Amino acid sequence: MEGERVVFLSIAFATHALVGYALVRGFTDADARIGLVFGLVPDGDFLFPATWGWPFVHRGLTHTPVFALTIVIVVYALRRDRSITLAVALAIGSHLAIDSLSSKGIDWVFPLAETAGPGLSVHGPVATIVLWTASIGLLVVRTDVLERSSERSDPEPRY
Ligand SMILES: [Zn+2]
Repeated sequence: MEGERVVFLSIAFATHALVGYALVRGFTDADARIGLVFGLVPDGDFLFPATWGWPFVHRGLTHTPVFALTIVIVVYALRRDRSITLAVALAIGSHLAIDSLSSKGIDWVFPLAETAGPGLSVHGPVATIVLWTASIGLLVVRTDVLERSSERSDPEPRY
């Protein structure tokens, strides 16, 4: 049973990281590794000690728009770079969007009220295949764009 949970969580983490990476690579000029890292940031709540309790539990504080907005504002304040800020917003936003569709959902209006999700199996086999296919598709399209733009920006040498 524990082994199944490790596999399930590993696939879930990989999915969040891949979706974040693909979105940042596809829609920003920032380093795509930002998407990898910030796509996983909300699940840092797995590291909270069990004794802490709400809202420091899985799908608690770190899975709220308040938390995501705070991180985005802090990143902008520190870096003053719109592309990096957009990358962070896309990565964390994708994580919250995916998790919000599960049965537990995320608390959209934290700390005012608890909200539930529609109950989709967001880390089940079908959703995982859909998310991986979309992400890899976005990476393929983006790679084509990059190759075409690098051909354009690499003119014949003039003598
Ligand atoms: Zn999560």
